[in-house]
Amino acid sequence: MSEPGSPLERPGSIEVIVGSMYSGKTEELIRRLRRAQIARQKVEIFKPAIDQRYAQDAIVSHSDLRIPSRAVKDAREILRYAHEAEVIGIDEGQFLGPDLVQVCNRLARRGKRVIVAGLDQDYAGRPFEPMPQLLAIAEYITKTLAICVVCGSPANRTYRKLRRSGRVVVGGTDLYEARCRRCYELGRRVSAPGDAARNAVAATPIGGKNAGSKTGRPARRRARRGPRRRVR
Ligand code: ADP
Ligand code: ZN
Repeated sequence: MSEPGSPLERPGSIEVIVGSMYSGKTEELIRRLRRAQIARQKVEIFKPAIDQRYAQDAIVSHSDLRIPSRAVKDAREILRYAHEAEVIGIDEGQFLGPDLVQVCNRLARRGKRVIVAGLDQDYAGRPFEPMPQLLAIAEYITKTLAICVVCGSPANRTYRKLRRSGRVVVGGTDLYEARCRRCYELGRRVSAPGDAARNAVAATPIGGKNAGSKTGRPARRRARRGPRRRVR
C-alpha cells in the first residue's frame, strides 16, 4: 500500500455539476454515484439538513430517483464521516456555506473523488456562493440545462413565481420554475412593483390559463412538473 502523499497514491479530484432548478443536477449526481457503487468503491453521500420536509436519509431528484444519504448541518461535518470514502457525493452544495470549498480541497488532497451538485445562480440570477468558487478549483465541470416552462428553450435560470424576500425560501413547483434568459427577464420586468398594466400580461407557464405569450405566439408545451421537495 502506498504512503499518503506518495506518487503512487491516486490523486483526488473535484467534479462540480451546476445549473438551474430542474436541470438534472441531482439525476447526474446519482448516476455517477451509482456507477461508483457498482464498481465497489466506498461511497459516502451528503446533503444539507436544511429542508425538513423531505427525506432526511436520501437525495431525491424531481424525477424521483433516490439514493441514501446523510444530512449534515454544515460542510465541516462532512469531514467527520468521509475518512474511509473513496468517492464523496454532495447535493445542494449552495446551502453548505463558504467552508465547503476548503472541505472539498482537503478531501481531494487526500486522494478522494469529490462530486458536488448545486445551483450556480439564485432566484435573482446572482452567482450562488460557494458554487462559483468551487467551479474555479474543480478539475471537471458539468453545466446542466432545464427546459423553459414558458417557451420550451434550454433554461439556465430559476424563476421565483411569487414575490418573497430572502435568498432561501422553501418551495417547489409552486414557487419556482425553470426559464430561459429571455422568459426570465420578461417575467422579472412584468412583476416589477408599480407595473400593474404589464402584470396583466405576465408570462404564464405553458398550459396555464393564459397559454400563449405576449407576442401572440402559441405556447409549445408544458414541462413535466416534479414533486414538491426543494428549499430555495
Ligand atoms: P435539479 O437537481 O437540477 O433540480 P433533478 O435532477 O432533481 O434536477 O430533476 C430533473 C428532472 O426534473 C427531469 O428529468 C424532469 O423529470 C423534471 N423536470 C421538471 N420540470 C422540468 C423542466 N422545466 N425542465 C426539465 N426537467 C424538468
Ligand atoms: Zn423561454
